[in-house]
Amino acid sequence: MVGAGVSFGPNSIRAMALIDPAIQKGFENCVTSNAYPEKKDVWFDFRMGMTEEGWKDLEGKQPPAKEGEYLTKVIAAPVGQASVHRAHFLDELVKLIPVENAQFGKRLQNVEEKGGRLQLTFRDGTTAEADAVIGCDGVKSSTRRIVLGENHPATLPQFTGKYAYRGLVPMEKAVEVVGDELARNSQMYLGHHGHILTFPIEKGETMNVVAFQTKRDRKWENENWVLPMKESDMFEDFKGWGKDVKHVLSLMQKPDVWALFDHPPAPTYYKQRIALLGDAAHASTPHQGAGAGQAIEDAFVLSNLLGDISDAKDIEKTFYAYDAVRRPRSQKVVTTSREAASIYEFEDEELGMDLQKIRERLDQRCKWIWDEDLPAQLERAREIMRG
Ligand SMILES: Cc1cc2nc3c(=O)[nH]c(=O)nc-3n(C[C@H](O)[C@H](O)[C@H](O)COP(=O)(O)OP(=O)(O)OC[C@H]3O[C@@H](n4cnc5c(N)ncnc54)[C@H](O)[C@@H]3O)c2cc1C
Repeated sequence: MVGAGVSFGPNSIRAMALIDPAIQKGFENCVTSNAYPEKKDVWFDFRMGMTEEGWKDLEGKQPPAKEGEYLTKVIAAPVGQASVHRAHFLDELVKLIPVENAQFGKRLQNVEEKGGRLQLTFRDGTTAEADAVIGCDGVKSSTRRIVLGENHPATLPQFTGKYAYRGLVPMEKAVEVVGDELARNSQMYLGHHGHILTFPIEKGETMNVVAFQTKRDRKWENENWVLPMKESDMFEDFKGWGKDVKHVLSLMQKPDVWALFDHPPAPTYYKQRIALLGDAAHASTPHQGAGAGQAIEDAFVLSNLLGDISDAKDIEKTFYAYDAVRRPRSQKVVTTSREAASIYEFEDEELGMDLQKIRERLDQRCKWIWDEDLPAQLERAREIMRG
């Protein structure tokens, strides 16, 4: 999936460096952080985005804050908001792959065991042989079907009831409408059943905008998950929101709409010598900015475990240890990501519109993701592998 900006938490950046310092270097070549020195550790500043008129079904209660009011900040030291343009980071990663090790433009169709090895069949009719297959083929993964079985209920992604308008705004235009501080530093604007986030990418030249909404019937019937946006739909969705939000939305260039799907928990991330990695294993909503980071953690653990063995007969043991360590953590990211949206959008049953409780929860809730001890995680996997 390419799209526009993607941000990485402290754990993800540490995982890059642990896999290979060259990956971190490539990331640093294209990363953009908040512009103001005092915002360097800030993940997001949270503000109320909705006007009083926007609040419906309040059952006599007052909206929790006035439109534009500053609510809180969340610290993700030492990286704060660290984002890249996806295409630029992919270019940096591709540079690190030896040409003879990669072939692009292939679509995997099937994997079968043949004579003790795995035979991969591609849509163009070509085949390849391997000792092991690691499917990193995204939320609509073919490998997931092969690992879990065609009819397994966790094979298919599920619509989460949320969708997002995504687009980019030239930074100087964003500064004109929301001012320097709000444009150049990451912001999250909250409202009932929706939220909007903005953060700088491309070394501060561009503002990345993602505006989330809720589909009340919780159904997505279109077979496409990314659709060109109709401006009138977006303005209808955000008609009860404040002027900053509306201004930013009106400036989005070539925005599109993304239906947000995630995976029901898979009972395993491998079958024999075929494993799943990244979204193929644990596709998540983007509400914690942590999905891609989990793919990098997967790669850190799995590449090290595979590096420890020298005989193909140990591959399955490696996948067993990888699955045991990675599945619980990455699946927790999927479920807590859904919870995050319900907090930002005042839908959480426990916290509701209680701003004090929301502040306290936001302050703490991502620490288990960001503060992970990755070498210890790998060590646990190695112990499992040693039996
Ligand atoms: C709106 C949105 C915003 C997001 N923002 C963030 C964020 O800020 N931070 C974050 O950490 N995460 C974010 N995520 C999640 C993040 O995008 C994913 O977790 C990440 O892209 C997963 O990487 P991946 O390589 O596993 O899968 P993908 O990026 O989906 O890549 C899979 C690749 O496999 C290819 N492929 C598919 N099928 C086949 C096949 N049969 N054969 C061969 N190749 C195949 C695809 O073409 C694609 O190139 C966001 C997601 C969405 C939807």
